[in-house]
Amino acid sequence: MIPVNEPLLDGNEGRYLQECIDSGWISSEGPFVERFEAEMAARTGRKFAFALTNGTTALELAMAALRLEPGSMVVMPTFCIISCVAAVIRNGCIPLFVDADPLTWNLDIEKLAELLKDQIERQGNRKLKAIMAVHTYGLPVDMDPLLVLADRYGLKVIEDAAEMHGQSYRGVACGGFGDLSVFSFYPNKLVTTGEGGMVLTDDPLLAERCRSLRNLCFQPGRRFVHEELGYNFRMSNLQAAVGVAQLERLDMFVARKRAMGARYDALLADCNGLQLPHARTDYADNIYWVYGVVLGDEVATDALGMMGRLAERGIGTRPFFWPMHEQPVLQRMGTLPTDNYRFPVAERLARRGFYLPSGIALSESQIEEVSSTVVAEIAKAGR
Ligand SMILES: *Cc1c(COP(=O)(O)O)cnc(C)c1O
Repeated sequence: MIPVNEPLLDGNEGRYLQECIDSGWISSEGPFVERFEAEMAARTGRKFAFALTNGTTALELAMAALRLEPGSMVVMPTFCIISCVAAVIRNGCIPLFVDADPLTWNLDIEKLAELLKDQIERQGNRKLKAIMAVHTYGLPVDMDPLLVLADRYGLKVIEDAAEMHGQSYRGVACGGFGDLSVFSFYPNKLVTTGEGGMVLTDDPLLAERCRSLRNLCFQPGRRFVHEELGYNFRMSNLQAAVGVAQLERLDMFVARKRAMGARYDALLADCNGLQLPHARTDYADNIYWVYGVVLGDEVATDALGMMGRLAERGIGTRPFFWPMHEQPVLQRMGTLPTDNYRFPVAERLARRGFYLPSGIALSESQIEEVSSTVVAEIAKAGR
């Protein structure tokens, strides 16, 4: 089976892990944690960085640091991972969803503008408090107009850059936008620590809250007396050691992902009935965190059907995100807006989109095998 994602761990990962063992520094107090934070801050132009247990907890911490009043509304894409909406709901806030753009698969900026205007007309600016910008699959969200809207309506911005290590928007590194930004270091991400995440900010007050909330709100003077309830979201030195080694090779990882994307593009260009990832916009070149494809409506099967056919021929795939407004858990919790907003693009992407093997370890011959099999199976599926 050609795996859908596989990290490359043959740099200094082993050596740095051995250093942790030899020195006895394995907890979050070891030196690799600060080094990893400093290097991520430098790469994203941020003042403060906090290494955490994973990307999901990083989003939860970012939301907690904003201290929004219960019932505040956070605008976010419906086409995203459950982590984003969990962070909003666990902090007592209400998600307001925006449909996806059919080309970039990111939140549709025009629909965002319409939704904000509509909400302001309905309820003034009382409950609308933040926007979560989630960069999806390889292209960043169009941040300039999003930041203009946030500024106009006085909204905080959280940037979810979990899939965007090494990507930039108009030359500015992803992870450097908004009040707080978030990364994940899960093994399918461009930089991995096994499990891991990070929150970054330039705001000293938000940084202080993140520092305290990450570490159970222990107080410097009176350690076991707490003014606030925190979390234990600390990353260990072992994980950070792997992260430091991974970062040394991030530029190479990015180059490999882009070469993979270009190769798939060339091999699949003539395949009718298949939408390929949008290669570039005027603000970024695709980084192909994953190589996503969307079946045309004329193809006589859907994403699940095609993924089954490919699995039978030894090719691993993953479905696209299932939209948040269609999540049974959210429908049951009654947290979904009753307004008659519609999300046709996200619904179609979920049913017809999936991604091909996209790991950094993928070989040229594997890319060729995947591509020729996809072409053959689409032809066989008929229209
Ligand atoms: C992976 C991912 C997360 C969650 O990160 P974990 O480390 O898996 O918890 C959050 N947001 C996005 C966009 C992701 O891709």
